[in-house]
Amino acid sequence: MSDKLVIFAEESSDVTNLPDAKNTLRPWKVLVVDDDQDVHEVTKFGLKGLTFLNQPLELLHAFSAAEALKVLQSTPNIAVVLLDVVMETDHAGLDLVHIIREELQLKNTRIVLRTGQPGYAPEIEIIQKYDINDYKNKADLTRTRLFTTVTSAIRSYSEITTLDTSRKGLERIVLASSALITLHGTRELANGIITQLAALLSIAAEGMICFKQNTDTHTEEEEEFSIVAASGDLDPPSHDAIILDNNGNVQAMLVEAASKRRSIKNEYACVLFFPSECGNDMFLYLDIQRPLIETEEQLLEVFCSNISVCLDNASILDRLHNYAYFDSLLDIPNRVSLAKHIDQVMLEKIENQAIVLIDIDHFSEVNDTLGTDSGDELLRLVANRLREKLPEDVFIFRVSGDTFGLLGPQQLTTPSEINKILLQPFDLFGDDLTISTTQGIYILKDANISGTNVIKRANIALKRAKTVVRGESVEYTHEMERETHQRMLLLQGLRKAHAESELYLAYQPQVDIRTGKVNGLEALMRWKTKTGTMITPDQFIPVAESSGLIIPLGEWVIDTALRDIEYLEKRYNQQLQIGINISPAQFRHPNFLQMLQEKLDKFPLPAEQIEFEVTESVAMMDTDKVRDILQVIHNSGARVAIDDFGTGFSCLSYLETLNFDRLKIDKSFIDKMLSQSTGTHIPEMIINLGKDLKMDVIAEGVETEEQIQRLKALSCFEVQGYFFAKPMELTQLEQWLQNRPA
Ligand code: C2E
Ligand code: CA
Ligand code: CA
Repeated sequence: MSDKLVIFAEESSDVTNLPDAKNTLRPWKVLVVDDDQDVHEVTKFGLKGLTFLNQPLELLHAFSAAEALKVLQSTPNIAVVLLDVVMETDHAGLDLVHIIREELQLKNTRIVLRTGQPGYAPEIEIIQKYDINDYKNKADLTRTRLFTTVTSAIRSYSEITTLDTSRKGLERIVLASSALITLHGTRELANGIITQLAALLSIAAEGMICFKQNTDTHTEEEEEFSIVAASGDLDPPSHDAIILDNNGNVQAMLVEAASKRRSIKNEYACVLFFPSECGNDMFLYLDIQRPLIETEEQLLEVFCSNISVCLDNASILDRLHNYAYFDSLLDIPNRVSLAKHIDQVMLEKIENQAIVLIDIDHFSEVNDTLGTDSGDELLRLVANRLREKLPEDVFIFRVSGDTFGLLGPQQLTTPSEINKILLQPFDLFGDDLTISTTQGIYILKDANISGTNVIKRANIALKRAKTVVRGESVEYTHEMERETHQRMLLLQGLRKAHAESELYLAYQPQVDIRTGKVNGLEALMRWKTKTGTMITPDQFIPVAESSGLIIPLGEWVIDTALRDIEYLEKRYNQQLQIGINISPAQFRHPNFLQMLQEKLDKFPLPAEQIEFEVTESVAMMDTDKVRDILQVIHNSGARVAIDDFGTGFSCLSYLETLNFDRLKIDKSFIDKMLSQSTGTHIPEMIINLGKDLKMDVIAEGVETEEQIQRLKALSCFEVQGYFFAKPMELTQLEQWLQNRPA
C-alpha cells in the first residue's frame, strides 16, 4: 500500500478558477470586540480588501463582552477575535478570554488583545495560560500593523485548524479502521466505509455508492460494476443498472477510475479507489457538491490505504462465509444456510411454509457400483433439475451427502410436486437412471423453534420414512420426537448397562420330545436395571441394532454364552448345543468372521455345539457375501439356523442357493396350530421343506401338551418353549437341569 492512493488523477483544474468556486470559498471570520465605535470603523477601514490564501475576510462586530459572547456562541469557525480589554468592567476582555478558552472550548480561535492604556497590559502568565495570540496597543494599530497582525493571526488559525482537522481526521481513521476491520464481509464493510467517510468529511451520508468491480467478466471496453452498498436516497440499492443508466457521470467516473486504477475527482464528486490484493477492487462514488480541501484529500489518502487492508480481510471473510454457507460441489446453499433461512422465515412470520428433506434411495449403491464421479454427477443432475423445475419461491439446499432440503410454500413442496419433478429419468453420462426418494416433511407452524431444530424435526420424519415407508414421505409429529427421545434415553441407558454389567444371559432349553432329553439352549439377552426393572429385548435390541451398539453387545453375548457352556460341560459333563442370536448388523460387520475365530480359539469347545440364529432378512443381503460367510462358519464346524422362519422374506429360493442347517418355526404359527382348522398347514409345510432340503426343524414358543402332540404327529421332534421352561439365569438353569429325571 505504499502507493499514493488518493493522488487524484485529474489535478489539472485549479479550484479557484472554477466559476462556482468563489461562492463556495469560506471567508475568514474576524470578530471585532470594542465599546468604542471608532475602533470598529478604523479596523473596518484598515482591513478592507484583505484576502488570505485567496479567501476574503468577514468582519463581525460586538460592542461589549456580553454581546461578543453571543456572537461566539452562534457563529462557528471564528478565526480571530480582536478584543478590547476594558469594556463593561476593567477586565471584561480578560474575562471573555477565559470564557472563550475554558467554557466555549474554542482552542483554535486566535485572540488579539487591544488596549488603550499600557497600564492595562495583562500579566505574561495570562497571555500564556489563555493562548493569547498577540497584545497590541490601540495606538500602534496603523493600517500596516493591523494588516500584519491579522494576517499572521489568520495564518496561525489556518495552520492550527488544519493540524487539528488532520489530527481529528487521523483519530477518526484509526477509529474507523478498527471499526471496519471487525465487519464481516464486503457488503458490511462497504456500508461501514460510507458511514465512516461521512463522519470524516463532516458531510451527510448521502449520495455515496460502493461498487465492486466484476473482475472475472470485464474487458477493456466493458467494465462491469455491481453495487455493494449505497446510502441516502440511493439506499436500498434499487437496480444496479438504474443507478448507472440514470447517471452517466457516475458511470463515466467509475470507468475512468477503473482504467487509471486511481481515485479521481471533479468539482462535484469524486470516486475513491480501494485496490484489493484479492482482486476485488472497490470504488466509492462520493457526491460531495463541493471541492475537497487539501487536508481532506490527504486524509482520504490515508483512509483509502487503511481501508484496502480491511477490504482484503473482508474478501477473505466473504470467501469463508461462502465455505460456511455454500456447498461447493453442487453450488447451492448448505445445511447451515438452511437453518439461517428458516430462522428468517420464522422471524418474518411467513405463513404456510414447509421444509422437506429429500433423500435419494439407494444412493450409496450408485456410488459403489458406478463410482463416486457418477454419484457426484447424479447429485448435480438432481440439484439442477430441482432448480429448473421448482418455482422461484422454493429454495434448494444440500443438507448432507445425498439429502436435499427444500424450503418454500407448503402447496409447492408436496410429495406429488416433488415426485413429478424427480421421477423422470436422469441422463447419467448417457445412461437413463431413474431414482426414487424418501422425504421427511416439517410444516413451519411452531413459532418458537430454531432453524436447527426444524431441520432436526424434518430429519426425524425422514428417518421414520426410511425405516417404515422407503420411497414415500412422512410428516413430522410430536409423537415421533417423543419416541426418538425415548430411544435416545434407552440407548444411553443401554450403553451404561453394558459398561456396568447390568446385562446378563438367560438360557432356554431345547428339548427332544421323543426322549425328553435336553439337546441345547438358546442364549437370550436380559437387562435388569439397578432399580430392578426388567427391560425386554424387544425394546432394547432394535435400539442396539440401529445404533451399532449391537456389535460390542453381540460379541459380549458370544463370549458369555461360550464361557457358560464350557462351564456347564466341565461341571456336569453334559454337552449342550448353544443357540446364539446374531442380528443382521453383526452378520454384515466386516470383522464378524475374525471375531468369531478369536472366540473359537479362546474356548476350546467343539464348534459343532454352536448354532447361530439369523433371520430371513440376512438372505436379502448380497448373496455372494452371505454364501462366503456361511462357508467360513461351516468350515469351522458351527451351524446356522433361520430364526422366525416363515415370517419374513416371501421368496424361498434362497434356501436352495444358501446353505442353512436348521429352520426355527416361528411361535406365531405354533400359536395358531390348534385355534384354526388350517393351523397346521404352515408348520407342516415347513417341516416337509426341511425334510426335502435336508435341514433340521425346531418349533419355538411351544406352551401346551396339545401342541407337543400335534408336532409329534407332524414328525417335528425338537421343541423350545414355556411348556418345558422359560429362559433362565445360569444358576436357575443348573438347578433345572439337575432336577430333571434322567
Ligand atoms: P427370538 O430369538 O425369536 O427369541 C425367542 C423369544 O421367544 C424369546 O423372547 C423367548 O423368551 C420367547 N419365548 C420362548 N418360548 C416362549 C413361549 O413358550 N411363549 C412365549 N410367549 N414366549 C416364548 P425374548 O427373550 O424376549 O427375546 C426376544 C427377541 O429378542 C428374540 O427373539 C431375539 O430376536 C432378540 N434377542 C434376544 N437376545 C438376543 C441376543 O443376544 N442377540 C440378538 N441379536 N437378539 C436377541
Ligand atoms: Ca432366536
Ligand atoms: Ca424366534
